[in-house]
Amino acid sequence: MSTVSEALRDEEIRAGGGRTVAGVVNSIETLEGAGFLVRRPFPKASFSEFDPFLLLDEMGPMTLAPGKAKGAPDHPHRGFETVTYLLSGEMEHKDSQGHAGKLSAGDVQWMTAGAGVVHSEMPSAEFQRTGGTLHGFQLWVNLPRQNKMMQPRYQEIPAARIPTARTDDGLVTVRVVAGEALGARAVIETVTPIMYLHFTLRPGSRVSQPVPQDYNAFAYIIDGEGVFGADGERAIDGQMVMFASDGDDVMIANPVDAESELDVLLIAGVPLDEPVARYGPFVMNTEAEIYQAIEDYRSGRIGAINF
Ligand code: FE
Repeated sequence: MSTVSEALRDEEIRAGGGRTVAGVVNSIETLEGAGFLVRRPFPKASFSEFDPFLLLDEMGPMTLAPGKAKGAPDHPHRGFETVTYLLSGEMEHKDSQGHAGKLSAGDVQWMTAGAGVVHSEMPSAEFQRTGGTLHGFQLWVNLPRQNKMMQPRYQEIPAARIPTARTDDGLVTVRVVAGEALGARAVIETVTPIMYLHFTLRPGSRVSQPVPQDYNAFAYIIDGEGVFGADGERAIDGQMVMFASDGDDVMIANPVDAESELDVLLIAGVPLDEPVARYGPFVMNTEAEIYQAIEDYRSGRIGAINF
């Protein structure tokens, strides 16, 4: 245990303690879409969801030769939201509502599939031509029963419009995709209360982020090795840290002897506590609703990409 984390422990104890760590989860590596490699802490056989979150995929980082980038061709979604956050590379998407867009480094697409869209998520023509490093995330956020069949909605926020903030000592920066941190408030609106924060911590720094006790909260380590929670649990890139629901804030630190910055996603949300019926790209409450979704997709009622 480094002196930094010991000091933090003392401070947390004095402050009444932040949340402790309930567990550290390793990612599995799996192929998605047309065959691109992702790291996935969940879902997997032993761990199907972290209510209200259904999936987290880290795409890359991988260096792709020209012509070798792969994507996810036309496929449907219903009953939840997909959140794409790109750190490097360039993706293009199109959907059955006639919507098209491009995502570059730092951009976020928060897509509320609701009643349903068919979309494609592919490397841009330019990225396909040049090749390069692809790195990004996709998070699936479940929708409550009353919003599952809502009108699809897109929120596409370019990197420059994602609010950022830093601690007074300048050692910790945050990009606020959803929720609020270090005095900055997200521009993205969420259906249920969700926090999606990207923290970058220089060695020898720490941050204590308020997270209301009724939120389920986890951290995913993008890069580096960090110290988490009131008990100073260590975790490295590719691991997910689940916080217990035993406090109103979450502590993240990068030890003073760290060799690199610590890059972390802190994601939290109020659990829906509803039954989850799930089949591939459809997430509903009942099996009958899943059969309906499959039927609607097969008969073309969710639509098709026509351009
Ligand atoms: Fe998709």
